[in-house]
Amino acid sequence: MLVVMQAHASEEQVRAVCQKIESLGYRAHSIPGAERTAIGITGNKGEVEAGTLEEMSGVQEVIRVTKPYKLVSRDIKSENTVVRFAGSDATIGGPELAIMAGPCAIESREQAFAIAERVSRAGARFFRGGAYKPRTSPYSFQGLAEEGLQIMAEVRENFGLRTITEAIDHESLDLVEQYADIIQIGARNMQNYSLLRRAGRSKCPVMVKRGMSATLEEFLMAAEYVMSEGNYNVILCERGIRTFADHTRNTLDLSVVPAVQRLSHLPIIVDPSQGTGKRNKVTPLSRAAIAVGADGLIIEVHHEPDKAMSDGMQSLYPDQFDELMAQVRQIAPVVGRTVAVASAKPPAVVSER
Ligand code: PEP
Ligand code: MN
Repeated sequence: MLVVMQAHASEEQVRAVCQKIESLGYRAHSIPGAERTAIGITGNKGEVEAGTLEEMSGVQEVIRVTKPYKLVSRDIKSENTVVRFAGSDATIGGPELAIMAGPCAIESREQAFAIAERVSRAGARFFRGGAYKPRTSPYSFQGLAEEGLQIMAEVRENFGLRTITEAIDHESLDLVEQYADIIQIGARNMQNYSLLRRAGRSKCPVMVKRGMSATLEEFLMAAEYVMSEGNYNVILCERGIRTFADHTRNTLDLSVVPAVQRLSHLPIIVDPSQGTGKRNKVTPLSRAAIAVGADGLIIEVHHEPDKAMSDGMQSLYPDQFDELMAQVRQIAPVVGRTVAVASAKPPAVVSER
């Protein structure tokens, strides 16, 4: 159920409707839009009695939502969601492309700083890096855990980059939200509903990566889990799905970008690194992702990929990342997007969160 408020409804009227919904035992999600506020109702088993709400002042109409997802849908908010960060010009979902880059895993302070320096200079505003790595083998490097998060926090302070890192369970999420700017939920955890709910109770934006065999609807429902707990700063990420094709690690499904954008107001980022698993395919697929309308990219970059402790084969050399950015800069205006300027020096230190 969706309560659409009148364009000029006051905050007081919105609050009264929310209180009414909660008094009926449901949860109210007030989502302000450019023209009007809509209030999503969740937690209802059957149909909500619309009559009382319809009569309340400031209410324009009460709509029954037939789709399984509510809060992620354009029905509740027609304009795009833009995720913003205090103390930074970085945005996700606005006109400027969100470029996230860094190593697959944080290996040392030296490694993280060497890579951060290069990606920051090239114009990335976000630094990626795993401190908790979900590896296929239990014997592979699992990440530096809290030490890795501390290194990322130092990168943040020194380069003014916003950070994104994966939480693999409740325990790691408790730490990730203290150190990072964005919590990444990995493909393997896209249907870990308890983790999604926990991320939904965080104040941090959450990026949900598409599960390896997730349909569009399952993908959107994962985001719905996060939003249903009250966290509306959700970003989606296409990272390739499992198909019979074996020339790439996964099959990057770029068609999901316009499909998501048609149904949802949430931003969608593309990960051509996990998506292809091959360094030589990352730049071509990045070009395609921007051309198809993605809101940004997340790219693995390593200064010594041959020595990388994870995903070296798909990591770009910093020079290749420079080239990728140069190409993205040319494509961006064709699709009405901008890219942060590349700088000769790292940007000034920003520490506010
Ligand atoms: C990663 O970003 O390094 C990663 C493990 O991603 P995914 O969950 O998409 O495999
Ligand atoms: Mn990786």
